[in-house]
Amino acid sequence: MKVLGIESSCDETAASVWADGEILSNVIASQAVHEQFGGVVPELASRAHHKTIWKTTSQALEESGVKIEEIDAIAVAQGPGLMGSLLVGLSFAKGLALTYKKPLIGINHIDAHLYANFIEHEETYPFVGLIVSGGHTRLVYVDKAFNHELLGDTRDDAAGEAFDKIGKLLGLPYPAGPEVDKLAKEGDPKFHDFPRSMINKGLDFSFSGLKTSVLYYTQEKGDEFVQNHLNDICASVSAAITDVLVAKLKRAVKKKKVKHVMLAGGVSANSMLRKKMSQFAEDQNLNLMIPALQYCTDNAAMIAVTGALKARVGDFDDLSLKPFARVS
Ligand code: ATP
Ligand code: MG
Ligand code: FE
Repeated sequence: MKVLGIESSCDETAASVWADGEILSNVIASQAVHEQFGGVVPELASRAHHKTIWKTTSQALEESGVKIEEIDAIAVAQGPGLMGSLLVGLSFAKGLALTYKKPLIGINHIDAHLYANFIEHEETYPFVGLIVSGGHTRLVYVDKAFNHELLGDTRDDAAGEAFDKIGKLLGLPYPAGPEVDKLAKEGDPKFHDFPRSMINKGLDFSFSGLKTSVLYYTQEKGDEFVQNHLNDICASVSAAITDVLVAKLKRAVKKKKVKHVMLAGGVSANSMLRKKMSQFAEDQNLNLMIPALQYCTDNAAMIAVTGALKARVGDFDDLSLKPFARVS
């Protein structure tokens, strides 16, 4: 089976071809236009998707060596995301499906982050998954494909959002998550003890208190101090966020008594988080799945592989498929 995946939910235009268990191409066009604004501007994102989607998709097909006529299904991100951005991908995918008479599959972008793990790891259930992305922080229990039980969610900011907003406070460019990660590698995680909100309570998350705490800290210490100790502050912030994430995952694993765990979403690229999770999995003798770095942040390979999981059971959509902005 061969699946073409298309992703346009936010500020990455991406296309990928999955064939018989393998990713043959994975093309990502990131939109640099938003950098000057310190965040994604929805109208500019839609326009950039419109401009690049044909080129990106052609390139993905070309690199894979698979002709569009040989594709068995077209999978496309349906939501959550920016409405205008999603509409570009969805309309484009519908056009292809109609022209080439191929089945269409709408994909939940958050599910796709999770199933990105099955690009390289063996498909196994039941597992507990921790989705840590720019807009979501969720713990789920999954006993079979697409059967998700929500165990915990964020009450305010998502983990990626916390990295980005705190990084911005520290003067780092958008998206600040990878920058904080890089600086933290050279710093002391014990330099300052930032709060670990709700760490001993339940499976929900809260990161807005940490953001406020960093704001007060930087105001109190002043710019010069902050810039002189940027590595240590980034390390201490990363320690606070990752301690909470690991503690919650541990609790969920204990509660559901699973042997398989997975990390997913952009923040699963974080080196401190990957290290702590690996240590935990080793201690508990768990099978830990983390996507390769190129499949952590937004990409279409995750859309294609998730499409393949749906296509194998004939779970197709028709041309009335509509985008959605949020998950419930
Ligand atoms: P969602 O998937 O929830 O709709 P999104 O698509 O914007 O949101 P992703 O692409 O999954 O999110 O992840 C992007 C987020 O991951 C950003 O917040 C970014 O800062 C963060 N991120 C990426 N790499 C790292 C890293 N190494 N360390 C920390 N955060 C990171
Ligand atoms: Mg992005
Ligand atoms: Fe995402």
